[in-house]
Amino acid sequence: MSRELPNALNLRTDKAHSARMYDFYLGGKDNYEADREAAFKVAAAYPGIFVCARENREFMHRATRVLARDYGIRQWLDIGTGIPTKPNLHEVAQSVAPEARIVYVDNDPIVLVHAQTLLSSSAEGRTAYIRADVNEPDAILRSPELIETLDLTKPVALSLNALMHFVTDAQDAHGIVRRLMDALPSGSALALSHCTPDFDPQTWQKVTDIYDRAGTPVQFRGKAAVADFFADLDLIEPGIVVGHRWRPSAGSGGDASGDGPAPSDADVSLWVGVGLKS
Ligand code: SAH
Repeated sequence: MSRELPNALNLRTDKAHSARMYDFYLGGKDNYEADREAAFKVAAAYPGIFVCARENREFMHRATRVLARDYGIRQWLDIGTGIPTKPNLHEVAQSVAPEARIVYVDNDPIVLVHAQTLLSSSAEGRTAYIRADVNEPDAILRSPELIETLDLTKPVALSLNALMHFVTDAQDAHGIVRRLMDALPSGSALALSHCTPDFDPQTWQKVTDIYDRAGTPVQFRGKAAVADFFADLDLIEPGIVVGHRWRPSAGSGGDASGDGPAPSDADVSLWVGVGLKS
């Protein structure tokens, strides 16, 4: 959708971007022709993508609510935030704990354009936005916005939803998550969702090829490789499951969850989990 954008940001609207393709899957308006073209190709190969995107978002809502309500988490570091979509993570967290503090991180300039929406914190809490790449975890951890917003001596939930399949093994995806968790104290958490080829490898090979050809390398991982992200953590119930099976009764904040028949595992094709650092 065309809208006035700051000239200083090169949005490369001629090229498909993962954040804008995901926005399209969620029914958003912040996407361009090149994004829609690639997204249509994905949807033709894998019609479940719309269910996958919605279930992914709803897992984030439930995981955030459970961590705030049952585990006393009051701080989040959300990397690969995406284009704002209501409710955003801080809105879910602050609906349980108004004092919650959230640092958002994304490397796509389109997210920066909309970052103001992410800064609408409650008066008691606080939110910040950092434009950075997850491949540089130390830059994120050292950033003044993070240091001013989060107290790293107190538990933090690291939220990596539908992000790590954009980081390949060659980029040391598991080492990056380990580095981030190492910087957080005991009582911290990892909430992660990750697309998987496990239920339909042929279809996911097509999806991989479409992203690769659009210039976004992806590595969709099987369950064991997703479990490795939680290697040093204690998974909370129900462990690593397909997105819609993770605590479905934890509520979704008034969005579409619960409407219609349950989706199939193949349509959702997301492994999700929440682990705690002891
Ligand atoms: N976490 C959100 C959005 C997922 S879409 C949700 O689950 O609803 C994936 C997001 O990750 C996009 O916004 C994309 O711009 C961002 N992203 C992809 N690679 C990244 C990287 N290397 N560093 C930071 N963000 C990245």
